[in-house]
Amino acid sequence: MANIEELTEELEATNRKLEAMTAAVASNDEKMRRTHRRELRLLQADTLDSLIYAMTEGLRVSYGLEYVSLVLCDPDHDVRHLLIANGTPAEDFDSLLIVESMTGLAPQYISLQRPWLGAFTHCDHQLICPRADEAESIAMIPLTYRQKLLGSINLCSADPDRFTRAHATDFLAHLGVIASFCVENAVNRARLLRSGFTDVLTGWHNRRYLSVRLSEELARARRDGSRLVCLMLDIDHFKRVNDNWGHAAGDVVLREIAQRIESQVRASDVAARYGGEEFVVLLPGTEVGSAMLLAERIRTAVSAKPVDLPNGDSVTITASIGISEVHPAPQAIDLKTVGDALIARADVALYAAKSAGRDRVVVEAA
Ligand code: GH3
Ligand code: MG
Ligand code: MG
Repeated sequence: MANIEELTEELEATNRKLEAMTAAVASNDEKMRRTHRRELRLLQADTLDSLIYAMTEGLRVSYGLEYVSLVLCDPDHDVRHLLIANGTPAEDFDSLLIVESMTGLAPQYISLQRPWLGAFTHCDHQLICPRADEAESIAMIPLTYRQKLLGSINLCSADPDRFTRAHATDFLAHLGVIASFCVENAVNRARLLRSGFTDVLTGWHNRRYLSVRLSEELARARRDGSRLVCLMLDIDHFKRVNDNWGHAAGDVVLREIAQRIESQVRASDVAARYGGEEFVVLLPGTEVGSAMLLAERIRTAVSAKPVDLPNGDSVTITASIGISEVHPAPQAIDLKTVGDALIARADVALYAAKSAGRDRVVVEAA
């Protein structure tokens, strides 16, 4: 009989184990379903801003957390530019941190290959979660591309036991893989969009790019209290080239002149093909005096030697340059108007250079 009792006890114990296992499976099942739903929301986000929202606020609500932050490494400024082009600059997102490099932000970044769960400490996590005042525990989910760390989603909880080293990380790791894929996709879209910023003929940036960068440079000038100089260059009598040698020859001249201008400008200057045979160079933090010297160097480089044409002829090209300058006032809010006026004033100076006989540099009248 003792045997039966023993057997019954064993059976009950087995049943209890089975029940616990079934419950665990059901709970895992439910967790998996929830993870799938979260991942689906990321995959369905069709713009970068909706993806960022899904990765921060969306996950915060879905996990019932106090705070979620997103760190994105954006060394080429692709993400930042796409957000600007979308009309939702990075600063509009409370929980988004765009950085140029991942070093020095959090000690875990040194080897974050899988989600890191543990205690939230102010000194280690404050930089990546600047607003997580109440946080006691954190799950850092790495975003990677080809084994390279691109950023992290940081889930923060006021409950110290919510994320601990004892917790399994498989679901979070899976979410991280999907999120990484979504970010990579969005960055590719950004690159595609940037190709819309390039002029096909010269390989220079185009007018659209200029307008984005002009706003950025004006905002920076306002912040730093610095100046911004604008050079506008227009090729003299360019129509004659087209009329005498045809448009293909005109194109050759445009490409060659673009290269000659480019050889004179620094990498930190913003150069763009503004229109047909008009080019603009923005010179951040430059005095008008040094801008004039640069403009003279450009003018000389343009006419220094004749341009060879496809039919064997060659033609000497000259250009006129107008210069304007702005020192945006700290209270200047409407930077678009400030930028438009800067370009328009450079155009007026350019027109003065044309009227005075072309092949010269004119600074706007004070
Ligand atoms: P000015 O000295 O007053 O500037 O005289 P201009 O002949 O250069 O001025 P205008 O603006 O009248 O002519 C510019 C010409 O540039 C007209 C246009 O057909 C030509 N153009 C604009 N874009 C291109 C292009 O991509 N390729 C070629 N071949 N020509 C172009
Ligand atoms: Mg013109
Ligand atoms: Mg011209």
